[in-house]
Amino acid sequence: MDQAQAMQFMQKNNAAADAATDVTVPDDLMDDISQGVRKKEGTEIARVVVDRQGCIGAGSCVVFTDELFQLDDDNLAFVVDPDSYDDETVRLSAESCPVLAIHLYDKGGNKLFPDM
Ligand code: SF4
Repeated sequence: MDQAQAMQFMQKNNAAADAATDVTVPDDLMDDISQGVRKKEGTEIARVVVDRQGCIGAGSCVVFTDELFQLDDDNLAFVVDPDSYDDETVRLSAESCPVLAIHLYDKGGNKLFPDM
């Protein structure tokens, strides 16, 4: 995927997340993010966020869940398809990030991971 396509995914998913009035915006959202709001039925995770300032491009999230995350030309992760995996897999992928740059929230804007 080239950088233009990566930007398109980021803009599309960020705009869809901004427009999702049924999912509360968390208080602690960072400035430079790629995010996706999930539409999947029966999931606890409603928002997947990559903190792009925190991402170091280690790529384990991409290895784990390549339909959810990809790396752009700057070697920073972005959200591709927020609905591509079940909650458990998304959480395992977030846990695989060595710098905890992937943040997960529920519908009410409460942080599910990392819990600190
Ligand atoms: S695992 Fe973390 S540091 Fe590595 S690419 Fe994914 S978000 Fe970035």
